[in-house]
Amino acid sequence: MLPDGYPDTYYARTATSVAEHPALSGETRADVCVIGGGFTGLAAALNLAEQGASVVLLEAERIGYGASGRCGGLVGSGQRKDVLETEALFGYERSRALWDLAEDAKDEIRRRVAAHDIDCDLADGQLVGVHKRSYLGHAAELAAVLEECYDYPGCRALSAGETRERVATRDFLEGFWDPGALTLHPLNFALGLARAAEAAGVRIHERSRVTGYTQATLAEVSTVEGKVTADAVVLGCNGYLGKLEKRVAGTIMPINNFMVATEPLGKRRALELIDGFYGVHDSRFIVNYFRLSPDYRLLFGGGENYRAGFPKDIRGFVRPYVLKLFPQLSDVGIDYAWGGTLSITVNRLPHFGRLEPNLWFAQGYSGHGISTASFAGKLIAEAIGGDRSRFDLMAGLPSQRFPGGTLLRYPGMVLGMLYYALKDRIG
Ligand SMILES: Cc1cc2nc3c(=O)[nH]c(=O)nc-3n(C[C@H](O)[C@H](O)[C@H](O)COP(=O)(O)OP(=O)(O)OC[C@H]3O[C@@H](n4cnc5c(N)ncnc54)[C@H](O)[C@@H]3O)c2cc1C
Repeated sequence: MLPDGYPDTYYARTATSVAEHPALSGETRADVCVIGGGFTGLAAALNLAEQGASVVLLEAERIGYGASGRCGGLVGSGQRKDVLETEALFGYERSRALWDLAEDAKDEIRRRVAAHDIDCDLADGQLVGVHKRSYLGHAAELAAVLEECYDYPGCRALSAGETRERVATRDFLEGFWDPGALTLHPLNFALGLARAAEAAGVRIHERSRVTGYTQATLAEVSTVEGKVTADAVVLGCNGYLGKLEKRVAGTIMPINNFMVATEPLGKRRALELIDGFYGVHDSRFIVNYFRLSPDYRLLFGGGENYRAGFPKDIRGFVRPYVLKLFPQLSDVGIDYAWGGTLSITVNRLPHFGRLEPNLWFAQGYSGHGISTASFAGKLIAEAIGGDRSRFDLMAGLPSQRFPGGTLLRYPGMVLGMLYYALKDRIG
């Protein structure tokens, strides 16, 4: 059954115990008001409540309604850029600190799942399929650097033959195997975090869209029917931010990404396609990502658009991406197809910061948001609690506004994406 107020996704159809939270009505007081019920907001609220703060969380729709409840479920290691890139940008020390933080972020997911008994199909492993000749050799170099310089053994390059034994596509020329990455059911993880937050004392209000807030020492956060007065505000709206906070809207670009869930393939056929429940993505700039569900469907994400609104026929839009990698699935039906909005930044590094002494935000995870967003919430909670060390490491990453600002960023973006999509096709 599809729970009320959620898009028709495989995740919503397989959600375990969706709780209803009342809309905010009237006036209330809190130490912290968190805006947004995705991984950023939920983790901030949960950690703040555990630190002893009184917390109100306002979500415009339902818990996990945004990217967090619709995403691919692949939890990659490290930051969105690999350590070879972060080291070239920032040097070893800072790159190492960013890597260690990302490892803490994965550990935090494992810890939360265990501590709150969250039933979200957590599984290990990720395989990256290299689609382009000019990228050959990168996997071996990355695995060696991770082992030698980042104390992260276990990754390895896979030959074309080994890769094809694991994932039945002729598209991959070699592979990179990371046994320490994770996959999960993202909506069930979000719902589990919400349950834990509520148990810790967070007052959650769904269907409570924030229409604006004042920026005085004591902030007043307004919805259509209510108001929260709070000492601090956390902004966790990411790709769904809209015009709520113009000062940070210009550093992110909301983009739409699409997913399908095939009909169940049956155990034998599914495991012939991918030999386990780990995540897989390719090396394309506009990435294809996929994994098996516990009921042996292929969950596949591919294709993007850069305007408000999704294609009318999302099944038809994503299907060619599936068949390019897996032509053997031409007879397989698609049961669910959906889109979601995420936000990217110019340099694909996340954007954390503080706009006022009492207004905190994190956004722009650029497709690497499950671990980064849920850790962002924890780091914001630490910072509000007085320890800014780990928050500042992330907030110190360079951020840029998109050329053209919120009005004109799209034409430049579309040209840029077309350029990289073309590069994807050239060997
Ligand atoms: C199709 C898709 C696939 C993806 N796949 C992956 C993946 O495999 N791995 C990965 O790591 N990342 C992936 N991502 C990215 C990842 O999902 C996001 O980075 C992450 O979920 C962001 O979490 P968030 O809480 O910041 O934002 P969201 O989950 O988008 O939450 C923002 C919330 O804020 C609410 N909101 C907005 N405005 C207001 C307001 N005015 N008042 C109250 N509430 C408001 C929205 O309703 C929404 O629920 C994917 C994203 C998409 C769309």
